[in-house]
Amino acid sequence: MGTEIRPPEQSFNKFRQQYEANIILDHLEKNFDEKVLAITDKDIYTSGLNYVFGLAKLKGKAAIVSIFRLMTADKELLKERLIKETIHEFGHVLGLQHCKEKGCVMNFSNNIRDIDNKTTEFCHMCQIALGKQ
Ligand SMILES: [Zn+2]
Ligand SMILES: [Zn+2]
Repeated sequence: MGTEIRPPEQSFNKFRQQYEANIILDHLEKNFDEKVLAITDKDIYTSGLNYVFGLAKLKGKAAIVSIFRLMTADKELLKERLIKETIHEFGHVLGLQHCKEKGCVMNFSNNIRDIDNKTTEFCHMCQIALGKQ
């Protein structure tokens, strides 16, 4: 718990000035035996998207959440956003896909407003799906 690690050098895209989240996830999976969640202040992306708030390996071991685009002067709000994204990415690690239910923590967040509009809770269907994993 609470280990500090650097993102691998090859994850940094100097043209975008961002880190490729999948390369970091591969690095985490290689270096940790158990499920691992990384929290970073770096701006992360994955192919096809300008940025991501977080990324996880579906039914894998590793998840990452970035606070780079969650930032706000309101510390409580930042904490709430971080908790939502952390639960969301861990949902993926546990095998959950994105959920269409509004308010469900597994709803895909395209922007910060989407995060603020959802809750920290799994909807009924996601809870059932979690129980089956
Ligand atoms: Zn997701
Ligand atoms: Zn759901």
